[in-house]
Amino acid sequence: MFDNLSDRLGNVFDRLKGRGSLNEGDVREAMREVRIALLEADVALPVVRRFVDAVTEKAIGSEVLKSVTPGQQVVKIVNDELVDMLGGEKVEGLNLNAKPPVVIMMVGLQGSGKTTTTAKLGKLLREKHGKKAMMASLDVNRPAAQEQLKILGEQVDVATLPIVPGQQPLDIARRAMESAKLQAADVLLLDTAGRLHVDEALMAEMKAINSVSTPTEVLLVVDSLTGQDAVNVAQSFTGEVPLTGVVLTRMDGDARGGAALSMRYVTGKPIKFAGTGEKLDAIEAFDPNRVAGRILGMGDVVSLVEKAATAIKEEEAEALAKKMAKGEFDLDDLRMQLKQMQNMGGLGALAGMMPGMKKAKAAMQQSGMDDKVLIHMDAIIGSMTPKERKMPKLLNAKRKKRVAAGSGTQVQEVNKVLKMHQEMAKAMKQIKKMGGLKGLGALFG
Ligand code: GDP
Repeated sequence: MFDNLSDRLGNVFDRLKGRGSLNEGDVREAMREVRIALLEADVALPVVRRFVDAVTEKAIGSEVLKSVTPGQQVVKIVNDELVDMLGGEKVEGLNLNAKPPVVIMMVGLQGSGKTTTTAKLGKLLREKHGKKAMMASLDVNRPAAQEQLKILGEQVDVATLPIVPGQQPLDIARRAMESAKLQAADVLLLDTAGRLHVDEALMAEMKAINSVSTPTEVLLVVDSLTGQDAVNVAQSFTGEVPLTGVVLTRMDGDARGGAALSMRYVTGKPIKFAGTGEKLDAIEAFDPNRVAGRILGMGDVVSLVEKAATAIKEEEAEALAKKMAKGEFDLDDLRMQLKQMQNMGGLGALAGMMPGMKKAKAAMQQSGMDDKVLIHMDAIIGSMTPKERKMPKLLNAKRKKRVAAGSGTQVQEVNKVLKMHQEMAKAMKQIKKMGGLKGLGALFG
């Protein structure tokens, strides 16, 4: 999903990658692209403006971590702002803090996935929260809407209010509340009627149901595939009923970024859930981090930057860089590097995190370089004596055999480690010639 946006950002950051520092010109150029990309992704204009301003301010003159490239750093800043706009780190669950039966009112246009989401929430409440839920459809417009909820209720094992033909929405709501009380239900889910478009009659009905049932949650269900339309719908509902949250459906589909990004801004309310399929367990707590990652589509550069910041302590990197600057790089150093790679999630994770590293990852896998290899290499170096690690040349055939036996590997594998060490030592010397190493990131980036 969000292909255009990710491609465009990818291009910008590729260009930024490899530059020495983050200057204002770089940032402004990148932000021009970000702006166009967001507009193309159907993000509402005020949202784009606020986003770009915030990111520009943070990016200009920001300190670039030693172990990542400026481009990666910008991606991180863009990502953090996306996460922020999508609702931040806090997971917003359902508010069930009221006298039971807690009423949850579902609103939205026809076809947005309202009825399906109602049943999904009923199931979630029963299974994950251990709550006794009850559901009622107040949709008397669409033929068989009430019947649909009844069938879904049977599938998820959640009671539905018995259908009384001809009863009007407000009366159904009152009856539902009575019935939920009588049956000691913890939660009552009200599935309201939708329309093809927002109109006055719909809004009047929503307001009336709201005042009769005094819901704790009023959840707006919107189809994430409808982009700018979803934003308009959100705008219309926001002024009329006191929304408490948003559910974005069809996040499993090919959604453009616009809806997700604008929704929070337009409604001022948290996106609480994401619908991820037609099945009745296809609902997830909305995760701003994940969605931002998908919008960026930059592999997982962001967690790379975060992991780089914690896994590779700056001092360690510096000490290593100093040794390397002197052209020293022994097997202990190699071992430390392997450890750091493991800390960062192994070879595969590392490769997957770098934009444009998909090919490298495939190549690694083809040549049998997987995480097991990292563990084997560590065991091999661990089976050497300290002296051998300092002076790999000592390792003659006999010693290699001993190391292989000690690490439960083959002499061939020992040779591979030695070969890798040789190559890396050679690379270090070259880096030294080129004027130093800017952290571990430079090795991979
Ligand atoms: P309502 O008119 O708003 O009540 O919409 P429905 O709940 O009847 O849903 C309309 C269609 O969308 C149904 O075929 C659902 O199975 C489908 N649907 C609902 N939510 C999702 C979702 O998150 N992902 C996908 N792929 N389909 C969904």
